[in-house]
Amino acid sequence: MIGSPDNATWQRAMKFAIRDSLRLCQALGIDPNELPVSESGERQFPVFVPLEFLARMKHGDPFDPLLLQVIPRSGENIVSPDFTSDPVGDNIVEMAPGLLHKYIGRVLLIVSGACAVHCRYCFRRHYPYSTAPKSIDHWLPALEYIRSDASIHEVILSGGDPLTVADPQLSQLVELLGDIPHLTRLRIHTRVPVVIPQRVDANLCAWLERSRLAKWVVLHINHAQEIDSSVVAAIHRLKATGTTVLNQSVLLRDVNDNIKTLQELCEQLVDIGVMPYYLHQLDRVDGASHFESDPILGLSLVEELAKRLPGYAVPRYVSEIAGEPNKTPVALSALSHLP
Ligand code: SF4
Repeated sequence: MIGSPDNATWQRAMKFAIRDSLRLCQALGIDPNELPVSESGERQFPVFVPLEFLARMKHGDPFDPLLLQVIPRSGENIVSPDFTSDPVGDNIVEMAPGLLHKYIGRVLLIVSGACAVHCRYCFRRHYPYSTAPKSIDHWLPALEYIRSDASIHEVILSGGDPLTVADPQLSQLVELLGDIPHLTRLRIHTRVPVVIPQRVDANLCAWLERSRLAKWVVLHINHAQEIDSSVVAAIHRLKATGTTVLNQSVLLRDVNDNIKTLQELCEQLVDIGVMPYYLHQLDRVDGASHFESDPILGLSLVEELAKRLPGYAVPRYVSEIAGEPNKTPVALSALSHLP
């Protein structure tokens, strides 16, 4: 195991993250040819792995489930007509710069193009983040859109990862959202507390606690090995602000598509007070077909989880279909759009 830099600020953690596959392999004592690494995949979507996350990978194991999520492999070179650059239809629902209005009553605000880790299967790996708003001024049209539609009750901060934005800006944005009377809920989709747990610091907790909105944080953890004591502590700090914490996972071939791994993940989550909310069927994004698991397998895994665990520990198995008004439960009867 590789040590993580204790007490490093989250900004330093971002600065010192590993940004190329060769260094990543060297740090773990792995020959890049064992995987093998995809240079073109890496050019298209660069590597980004904080040392805190690296520290949870097994040295010398090219098939470590955390490593597989972040290293570009030759599978990224596979071209498949069913895999596209915008599999969930983000581009057609952008109502103001960075504001996606897909579902009734809630909108999604892309507040950052940056992430604290680059997940190779990310459905937004081709999103045109360079055009997304980057400051309060740029967010004004989105805020105006929300203010003018009283049917919107919830804003989801997304990205990229919203927690890569500095606290003064985030705090101001959340305050402005809190001033909109018909908003009742704030949801934050983030992987930062998992990969750089020290991001959940006093500053973040202060603005979160101050907001009058009901606060929900949805984490993204795919494997129990991602959860160490620093992640547990970060989750406790989040919960102490009155925030409800949920988790969503993606079913990933060779990472978590087996009953032992999923059961361990769900049990660890509920034991630390995080509800397993969704298990997503992979979104069919270009370059990620090697991560796709058969939904028949996914269904049997969730069925088995339901037999072994209490209901609150079993995530809903869903897929996102472009143009649909909500996530679609994966069911045998609805598999025609899936492989
Ligand atoms: S952290 Fe989330 S948005 Fe960022 S690359 Fe990973 S899955 Fe995509």
